[in-house]
Amino acid sequence: MTAVFIARLTEIEIGRPNPKILGVDEVTKSHSSQPEKIGFIGLGVMGRRMALNLRKAGYALSVHDLNRAAVEELVTAGAVDAGSIAGAAKADIVITMLPDTPDVEAVVLGEGGLASAMQPGSVLIDMSSISPTATQAMARELAARGIEMLDAPVSGGYQGAESGTLSIMVGGEASVLDRCRPVLEVMGKTISHIGGHGAGQVCKVCNQVAVAINIQAVAEALTLAKKNGVDPAKVRTALLGGFAQSRALDLHGQRVVEGNYTAGFRVTLQRKDLKLALENGSATGTVLPATALIQQLYGVLAATGRSDLDNSALALLLQEMSGIEEASA
Ligand code: NAD
Repeated sequence: MTAVFIARLTEIEIGRPNPKILGVDEVTKSHSSQPEKIGFIGLGVMGRRMALNLRKAGYALSVHDLNRAAVEELVTAGAVDAGSIAGAAKADIVITMLPDTPDVEAVVLGEGGLASAMQPGSVLIDMSSISPTATQAMARELAARGIEMLDAPVSGGYQGAESGTLSIMVGGEASVLDRCRPVLEVMGKTISHIGGHGAGQVCKVCNQVAVAINIQAVAEALTLAKKNGVDPAKVRTALLGGFAQSRALDLHGQRVVEGNYTAGFRVTLQRKDLKLALENGSATGTVLPATALIQQLYGVLAATGRSDLDNSALALLLQEMSGIEEASA
């Protein structure tokens, strides 16, 4: 027992994946000779937690972010400071977890970016939520240089990032996903191969449409309860036992009951995701009326200086518009 424990600790020290976390079969399958070295760019709300889990699983990790404090935290956890995008590119697999499409394009296609710095045969896994068409263009550019790409956006929030239980929606070649699956399994519980390049991002856009409309539904229901002088906490509990049950009612409903709109998932990111949905709807001729309405409401939150609140702040807005004064206190 003690010998096994020491052997595992030793593996973590030298940067091999930890079989206890990954599963012995997966490690044997994918890392029989050399374990994959990972570069990680973007250590924000999500990325820092995902990168920490990769370190805990024993992967050799080099990290980069514009925010020094975020890099220092990972270095303390045993990662190497890559110093630059090009530094992080010296890896078998590079993971990006950045805010928006222009950020990923700058890191991949900009001067000194991943497209010029990564080695042929290596893989870029972009886990940010960005444009499916921009993703396809980047995948083509990288393929021309012998670099593989997966789009692998996630759902599950910072809680899922922390517990390694994200839902990961993958676009790209099945063989590349097979190679990267052990790495993804450290960060996520459900890994779904949706289709070719960009399909993971399409799936994420669909996810955001469903989530936003769900939050709006919860916000309207609980605002109606408050306006009737009925306890929204009791309404939430009753609804959780019936047909209106949802994760949005559970998590965001609790926020509405408490009046707690500290992010969480910021309005600014949800607005970006619904913009992607509406652009995609326009390009594909898909009618998304509820999404368009909710995007306008997020626009009101942004225009009134509340971009950094949680995306459940739709309820705050509805309550203000309905004349519920204590909600905005
Ligand atoms: P964030 O803003 O907290 O983190 C982004 C990080 O990227 C920051 O640390 C920033 O300094 C860094 N960065 C930006 N540009 C950079 C550059 N050029 N070089 C190096 N570092 C750079 O964002 P987040 O909440 O972690 O979200 C990341 C992505 O995941 C977004 O696309 C978001 O939509 C998506 N997402 C977020 C959540 C959530 O709950 N926060 C859930 C699911 C998906």
